Amino acid sequence: ADATTVIDGEAVAADVRADVTTHVETLEDAGVTPGLATVLMSDDPASETYVSMKQRDCEEVGIESVHVEIDADAPADELYDAIDDLNDRDDVHGILVQLPVPDHVDKRSVLRRIDPEKDVDGFHPENVGRLVAGDARFKPCTPHGVQKLLAAYDVETEGADAVVVGRSDIVGKPMANLLIQKSPTGNATTTVCHSRTEDLAGKLAEADVVVAAAGIPEFVDGSMLKDGATVIDVGINRVDADTEKGYELVGDVEYESARGVAGAITPVPGGVGPMTRAMLLYNTVKAAGLQYDVDVNL
Ligand code: NDP
Repeated sequence: ADATTVIDGEAVAADVRADVTTHVETLEDAGVTPGLATVLMSDDPASETYVSMKQRDCEEVGIESVHVEIDADAPADELYDAIDDLNDRDDVHGILVQLPVPDHVDKRSVLRRIDPEKDVDGFHPENVGRLVAGDARFKPCTPHGVQKLLAAYDVETEGADAVVVGRSDIVGKPMANLLIQKSPTGNATTTVCHSRTEDLAGKLAEADVVVAAAGIPEFVDGSMLKDGATVIDVGINRVDADTEKGYELVGDVEYESARGVAGAITPVPGGVGPMTRAMLLYNTVKAAGLQYDVDVNL
């Protein structure tokens, strides 16, 4: 439909970055330069790319970045020691360990090791618990970014039927927790679907808001959607294509057919991706503010 709104994640992310920049200045005035530490224990080129993007994003808004690299085959203790050092550093307010960590390292132990006040990914069990309890400290970046997009486009979640496709700890579960929150940006009646869901199509057909985060290229199509639904496509999938790189990125939603039915839809790229990046900066500034009792009002 021509009336379909294409949700511009780049534009909303730029607004978030502008906000963050203002708060960086407030902190600077109080004598604090916010700092984010990224920790990489992986040879995976995608992880390397993500980390360097995060460093560049920091620079753009005036956040100092510190980078620590651990050999992928080093003992887990090396990673724990690095986290302990960063926990102790006054110039580091946020700590992000790029996931996945190698198989010989226990991910849960890593996440628990990070000082919860510096846990800008929001994956420490204390922060997960606070989110579930409606008292979030750091909301995980991707679902938080989705929440901001919905708010920026005045998408009503209150009383809406929402379907989240995917139940991962980093996207699906926290997304559902935000949507059921007793707040104006929540209050949705939320269904969480996953690989054992029977009749996904039936659930989607009823949904006013769909958040697709299954990691399967283009598996939600227009025929499955309710007329006028808001469709948030979290998926970022590489598929073979006749391009210079030999691949292209597609979402979990078949964009063309979905666009014909949806009331509003996020593109891939340019939808949720830039928001995830921006919310990390937001969480870092929030962390610095909390640690120094500077009201950055985020
Ligand atoms: P995971 O692989 O951790 O989780 C995928 C979820 O989808 C699982 O809960 C799985 O169910 C569910 N699922 C799998 N198959 C089906 C199916 N046929 N029907 C319904 N549900 C299904 O992925 P992530 O949550 O980490 O990421 C999801 C997608 O989002 C990926 O494409 C990823 O690249 C992208 N992503 C994008 C970000 C961004 O900034 N835009 C950030 C993070 C991720 P089960 O639990 O039963 O296995």
